[in-house]
Amino acid sequence: MEQKNVFEPISGFDLPRFAGLPTFMRLPHIGLDDPKLSDVDVGLIGAPWDAGTTNRSGPRHGPRQIRDLSTMIRPQHGVTGFRPFDHKNCADLGDVAPNPANLEDTLKRFENFYTKILSQGILPLTVGGDHLCSLPILRAIASKTPVGLIQFDSHTDLYHSYFNGQLYTHGTPFRRAVEENLLDPKRIVQIGIRGTNYDSEDRDFAKNEGIRIITIEEFFQRGINDVMNEVRTIVGDYETYLSYDIDFIDPAYAPGTGTPEVGGPNSFQALEVVRKLTGLKLVGADVVEISPPFDPSGGTAFLGSSILFEILCVMLSS
Ligand code: MN
Ligand code: MN
Repeated sequence: MEQKNVFEPISGFDLPRFAGLPTFMRLPHIGLDDPKLSDVDVGLIGAPWDAGTTNRSGPRHGPRQIRDLSTMIRPQHGVTGFRPFDHKNCADLGDVAPNPANLEDTLKRFENFYTKILSQGILPLTVGGDHLCSLPILRAIASKTPVGLIQFDSHTDLYHSYFNGQLYTHGTPFRRAVEENLLDPKRIVQIGIRGTNYDSEDRDFAKNEGIRIITIEEFFQRGINDVMNEVRTIVGDYETYLSYDIDFIDPAYAPGTGTPEVGGPNSFQALEVVRKLTGLKLVGADVVEISPPFDPSGGTAFLGSSILFEILCVMLSS
């Protein structure tokens, strides 16, 4: 009998998918001290932290729920036939441990965790957590050279501060990342922006820095192919981070999130936009803002798991 690759997900034919310990996509769990860590190409990482959430909290419970729902993912892509786990070694690296009582300490813990992962040559694919989680990840990834950013979101997350000068919330991560020279503003593109605003401060910042905002009106008017071709042109062939906020999707399809905005893409479109990124130079990605307390059916977490699989296929087919 042929020896099975240790990094293969547990097959639903060997063990029913409702059985066993849930890991991301039924992949093996490889801890940071495991000698097999150096064999990992893509690390799926849980970021159970939502101290940046300003209104309805809950994404700290996201990784556990997505580990459960991602047991539904089979190893072969339904449209392209691509089998990501045949190409590279993927593993569940567990959770980065936050300090729920101290925000700045948590940011440092995240940065240290990702610095260690990156030093092993592992491509990080993170499940949040709220959108503030992206900032310490970028601090590790872009410590030397700023990278581009493709952000699916209904919000810009470019505000300066909240609540009397608080700099670190899920509404500010990309403002900080630009200030800290982690992102090249000319290579940032935000897709799906909509909803009511406090004011135009975030948009003014984007305009001054040359950040491209594609509103949901423009997205639907032009269509996915045209918009995603522009996205590819903006980031080019250089290192780019992909950040997918689940509130990009219409709350009719993804209600399990803290800051929903109506009038967004459906589940089909939510997957298709990712598929258009094949071939880009992605240095990491995350799916954030899935909030199990607002997701009693698990449908949002399942959609998030499906997006995670699309991202994995794109990362490994480049
Ligand atoms: Mn966001
Ligand atoms: Mn958002």
